Amino acid sequence: IRWTEGRGWHDAQLVPYAPISLDPANMTLHYAQTIFEGLKAYRQPDGSVATFRPFANAERFQSSARRLAMPELPQELFVAACDALVRQDKAWVPSEGEASLYLRPFMFATEVGLGVRPSNEYLFVVIASPAGAYFPGGVKPVSVWVSEEYVRAAPGGTGAAKAGGNYAASLVAQAQAVEHGCPQVVWLDAIERRWVEEMGGMNLYFVYGDRIVTPELSGSLLPGITRASLLRIAADLGYEVAEGRVSVDEWREAAENGSLTEVFACGTAAVITPVGAVKSTRADWRIADGEPGEVTMRLRRALLDVQTGASPDTHGWMHPLG
Ligand code: PMP
Repeated sequence: IRWTEGRGWHDAQLVPYAPISLDPANMTLHYAQTIFEGLKAYRQPDGSVATFRPFANAERFQSSARRLAMPELPQELFVAACDALVRQDKAWVPSEGEASLYLRPFMFATEVGLGVRPSNEYLFVVIASPAGAYFPGGVKPVSVWVSEEYVRAAPGGTGAAKAGGNYAASLVAQAQAVEHGCPQVVWLDAIERRWVEEMGGMNLYFVYGDRIVTPELSGSLLPGITRASLLRIAADLGYEVAEGRVSVDEWREAAENGSLTEVFACGTAAVITPVGAVKSTRADWRIADGEPGEVTMRLRRALLDVQTGASPDTHGWMHPLG
């Protein structure tokens, strides 16, 4: 779907997957006006297909667009585009359990010019790719590296938007995490370098027995749809759940004195990943015995059961496509 200043949204097309050719002076290549989303379509027990919370992605896409001075795609159009692609690719939606068809809606500037200003033309595209179960051999805890040198986002920046530039800026810290033997980086706040914000592509949850805390939306972390869904599911299951601030020192102390029983990360790709160990320049620590915890696994199952249709969709999150 294209957008042109003065004309609005036009020319929706469903076309075979193919390269997009760009002018060397395409504004996106220089000034990075590019935003995206990620969501999944799951096969349901009766063979039909449904996407998980596409209107939540559509809403976040609009807020990312506003932050990047891009036009807002109406939510109905966003969802209709995803629906059209899933219907076309229905045979590609896997039928086994946790596997899904991953959808990647994105939008970028298409105007040609070297002046720094919002583009007058944009292209919105959705592509799809089958995604296997994230943990085919069973859920494995991840170890994480706390980045003290780099920050992902600062107050007033683009951290709450799903903008390409945020990911470009995170790659060097992600590489440092890997150098320290950790597959994932954990980000701290930009001002005090003390408050835990989120993980590479996932939000974090801290479990203290029956009490669960996730970092509050500070304005510089991504408001994850999995995060929001788990706030509801955890409350449904009777946990005491809150949004709050967790400092990196508190994280270490609570892990060491045993009051912190589990930590997990959540996002569309992995749904829920247990965090087993933490490394930073100052200290290394483990969470409990480093194995996937009971609350983590219970919440993971509860959310996946809704997504795969194994349990009733009490919150109206599934969007059926027939
Ligand atoms: N934080 C970041 C930086 C992410 O890229 C993602 C993935 N979209 C998340 C959190 C989790 O968000 P969601 O649950 O909507 O996938």
